[in-house]
Amino acid sequence: MGTQVNVSPVKHFDAIIIGTGQAGPPIAARFAGAGKTVAIIERGKFGGTCVNTGCTPTKTLVASAEAIHVARRGTEFGFSVGDVRVDMTRVKARKDEASALSSKEVEDSLREMKNCTVIEGQARFQSPNTVVVNDEVLEADKIFINVGGRARVPDMPGIHDVPFLTNSSLMDLSVLPTHFIIVGGSYVGLEFAQIYRRFGSEVTVVEMGPRLIGREDEDVSDAVREILEAEGISIRLNAECISLAKHDNGVAVGLTCEEGPPEVVGSHVLLAVGRTPNTSDLGLDKAGVATDHRGDIVVDDQLQTNVPGIWALGDCNGRGAFTHTSYNDYQIVADNLFDADHRRVSDRIQTYALFIDPPLGRCGMTDAEIRKSGRPALAAKYPMSQVSRAYEKGETQGFIKISVDAETKQILGAAILGVGGDEVIHVLLDVMYANAPYTVVERAMHIHPTVAEYLPFILAKLEPIA
Ligand SMILES: Cc1cc2nc3c(=O)[nH]c(=O)nc-3n(C[C@H](O)[C@H](O)[C@H](O)COP(=O)(O)OP(=O)(O)OC[C@H]3O[C@@H](n4cnc5c(N)ncnc54)[C@H](O)[C@@H]3O)c2cc1C
Repeated sequence: MGTQVNVSPVKHFDAIIIGTGQAGPPIAARFAGAGKTVAIIERGKFGGTCVNTGCTPTKTLVASAEAIHVARRGTEFGFSVGDVRVDMTRVKARKDEASALSSKEVEDSLREMKNCTVIEGQARFQSPNTVVVNDEVLEADKIFINVGGRARVPDMPGIHDVPFLTNSSLMDLSVLPTHFIIVGGSYVGLEFAQIYRRFGSEVTVVEMGPRLIGREDEDVSDAVREILEAEGISIRLNAECISLAKHDNGVAVGLTCEEGPPEVVGSHVLLAVGRTPNTSDLGLDKAGVATDHRGDIVVDDQLQTNVPGIWALGDCNGRGAFTHTSYNDYQIVADNLFDADHRRVSDRIQTYALFIDPPLGRCGMTDAEIRKSGRPALAAKYPMSQVSRAYEKGETQGFIKISVDAETKQILGAAILGVGGDEVIHVLLDVMYANAPYTVVERAMHIHPTVAEYLPFILAKLEPIA
């Protein structure tokens, strides 16, 4: 007599989706809405990074920090509120409420979706068309991977000897760090730097490179640095050999900087040095899905992996690291599958924001990329201090700069660092998507007094790019 083995029957679906980030749930809705059966699997909190540890909580904190900052500037605006005291418990509760609401909305919408089966657990491929979760085997001809990423924890000396925070664990912190050291001077790190400075922490940003947000043009990096330093944030650049060690007063971060003391001691350390895709525990080898040296899933222009019937969307495919790129991935896949609309990743125009206050809105190429491309270009730059809406609001930091192709008159790129920059950038972005020349903006009548009303005026000042 052989031993009896309990083998649960394979459950068949039209589609399996792994992860409930920004692309998974809308894909589920498209399949379910078309009368197809779909299984969606989540191992953590519904809604993924943006909702739980990314955009929603950080922008809620940015809003608290901005309100606190304005309250401190009361006398400038003609009011006084006495001593501004920050209650971290309430700041955190407000953030938690926003995240919980968004996460619940994602979960509820999936659970209420007809034809959709929600499964909580860790999904692993068993073969190109089967996935195992909680000892159940699911099978589908179409599988969509939307597993996102997590904070990268580099193997720096001392990393295992000290407590450190990431964007995820920081979400549970309800005390105010007395001295917050933020390792990483890029988008995530800088947002937290300003937030915690405004809450009242001493903040030091430690960056390995020679400038902050090194992907941006130098004038943008410099202006962002000035904005942060003006609020009392210390910035240590060229920290080429970062190490961590225990210290009586918290954590000592070794820097080997060109300038200043070789070590800085803080009460808390945040690691904000990039992201790692959640692809190593997915059993991708069992399905034969290829990844690159970073662990990103290799996809083509329509987000198909090397294995027919398997797609990868969002941060795990290395084609974007934003909520809007993940959602756009969903649109590309859905339009190709359901609407015979052959949208491609290469159709989209780079755009994002750095949500410090004032924010940086970006679209298209940087000046450095334009110069490298060798195309004939014109550019114009205008200080926010000359924008009437900005000085009326007392928000005069930053500038607007726009570059266009000298021959085609197409807008090539823009950076709007200043009040409303994250919104105003869309005026230019939509003209780029319309493939219209910049002269459309130049001739448009905009509302006064706004930041956007200056775009036609700035475009009238274009000169050959320096
Ligand atoms: C601090 C911070 C701030 C940010 N702010 C912004 C911003 O302001 N604007 C913006 O556009 N972007 C922002 N981002 C980036 C944005 O959060 C992500 O790009 C976005 O969430 C896209 O994620 P995704 O769809 O790829 O997957 P994710 O949202 O990461 O979701 C993936 C899901 O898959 C689940 N999962 C993983 N592996 C498995 C498995 N094997 N089985 C089952 N489930 C699994 C995870 O639990 C997770 O829920 C920010 C990121 C951070 C870290």
